[in-house]
Amino acid sequence: CHERTTVTDRIAPPARLDTLVVGAGFSGLYALHRLREMGHTAHLVERADQVGGVWHWNRYPGARCDIESVDYCYSFSRDLVQEWNWSERYPAQPEILAYINFVADKFDLRSSISFHTEVDSMVWDEDACVWHVTTDRGDEITAQHVVMATGQLAVPQLPDIPGVNDFGGQTIHTGNWPHEGIDLSGQRVGVIGTGSSGVQVIPQIAKQAEHLTVFQRTAHYAIPARNRPLDQEYAADLKERFEEYREIARNHPGGTHRHIGEDSALDVDPEAVIETFEGHWERGGPDILAAYKDIRTNEEAAERAGSFVRDKIKQLVKDPVKAEILQPKGYPFGSKRLVLEIDYYDTYNRDNVSLVDVKADPIDGITERGIRLVSGAEHELDVLVHATGFDALTGALFNIDPVGVGGQRLSEAWKDGPQTYLGISTHGFPNMYVVAGAGSPSVISNVLISIEQHVEWITDHIGWLAKNGLRRSEAELDHQEQWTHHVYEVAQPTLFMKGNSWYVGANVPGKPRVFALYLGGVGTYRQICQKVADNEYEGFATL
Ligand code: FAD
Repeated sequence: CHERTTVTDRIAPPARLDTLVVGAGFSGLYALHRLREMGHTAHLVERADQVGGVWHWNRYPGARCDIESVDYCYSFSRDLVQEWNWSERYPAQPEILAYINFVADKFDLRSSISFHTEVDSMVWDEDACVWHVTTDRGDEITAQHVVMATGQLAVPQLPDIPGVNDFGGQTIHTGNWPHEGIDLSGQRVGVIGTGSSGVQVIPQIAKQAEHLTVFQRTAHYAIPARNRPLDQEYAADLKERFEEYREIARNHPGGTHRHIGEDSALDVDPEAVIETFEGHWERGGPDILAAYKDIRTNEEAAERAGSFVRDKIKQLVKDPVKAEILQPKGYPFGSKRLVLEIDYYDTYNRDNVSLVDVKADPIDGITERGIRLVSGAEHELDVLVHATGFDALTGALFNIDPVGVGGQRLSEAWKDGPQTYLGISTHGFPNMYVVAGAGSPSVISNVLISIEQHVEWITDHIGWLAKNGLRRSEAELDHQEQWTHHVYEVAQPTLFMKGNSWYVGANVPGKPRVFALYLGGVGTYRQICQKVADNEYEGFATL
């Protein structure tokens, strides 16, 4: 298996298709495979020059998955499960990308993919019941169904800072890291952003750069990953009983095997709580979130975990000023994505790393030479790295901005936030299905589990329509309204609503502040989707 560039030998997409799939990440590749297996004419277009999705784009040093490798992989093929061997507990980006390439080779997927091809418009044709799709390569495609596998985190977001394009040195976003890599030795590097990507990239840059300055607006709670080589005996055992192992994850709230505590953190003796947290800290990984049943719903319970992590930061970071800045404040533990770290806090003990608290002294602007703060202080830089995240969930869809029934654009239909039925379908946009996006568990779960469930449901639905001679399927408005309200009502009592995070669109100016992910749990969600299918796709108007 190997990466391939296909810029010169691009396969042109067929002009007529049963189903067009957009995006060659985990979602799109599985959708393409399944549709072809079903005997449908299916083709995939991808704007990158190869497969991989986020794992193709996010090549920054330190990029790594925070779900264990044995869980962050496909389960649809027994052979695939047996043939692939993971090397680490938490796989790094190159290994995940190698895995995706292995999958593409094994199932000969590239023969049905047009790389280097970006979908730039989609218009619904009500008379013919088809989508007319155009690409930046001049292709015109007519497809009965379109599967939007365009990703949750596929559109990098630059910070809203004056002069963001004025920097005279090299500017890089972690989500678009140069494929050839970049030599940072002898360079003065600045990093803006200390979320998941920032926490991963900062220790790696510190090892290479002459000097690293981190500009932190919000400190995140970061827990040790305790990454290590994968125990091969354990991995072999899981392969033996993979189907049974995976079935547990499919029905688990988070799509994993995490044990969920039954006690309240407030009912247990504080010393015992600390002991439990210590165990999680030593073992590493995100399971501390589920150590007690109310960590994500009760602020006082969350604060027990929050104060535990802040104490750890005080112990780990030698400079008390830096330690103070690095301690998260002002929002509950667990209300933003929990970050896994490798050497992150220790990095601030290095002589070549400085930390600027831009909450206390905000960035006034990016200049030709570096970053100027409101106080007038200026930091001269050679390289500026934006670890500032993505226009999550809706960014890639709005870039295309499909035009549905009656000429309505998706961005108009979703102007107050995503409106979906099951996260899969939107009223007014027939025969268009979104994989693992807003309105579904998506990035709040082990996304691979969610992707497999979505792709299987969507392709089954397309198969069912074909079998029944139906050409059009559209979410009914009342079912969409009920689902959208249900997503909202399930999120309301959780602490996610209190975190000013990308989950609620807080990192994108002007984005409606809604929590658009389904928090009812992967297992529950699967049951709901299954029931809809069993009831002949209740809530979908078909003809
Ligand atoms: P993507 O991988 O985003 O693929 C979408 C593809 O669509 C891209 O290749 C893009 O180029 C293409 N595309 C978009 N628009 C167009 C267009 N108009 N025309 C043509 N092509 C288009 N999830 C986890 O569960 N655990 C993790 O630890 C985890 N870590 C992550 C770390 C990073 C740095 C990032 C960015 C994401 C992480 N995720 C993680 C979430 C990740 O998005 C999913 O796990 C999964 O890889 C998504 O696969 P996908 O195929 O749905 O989307």
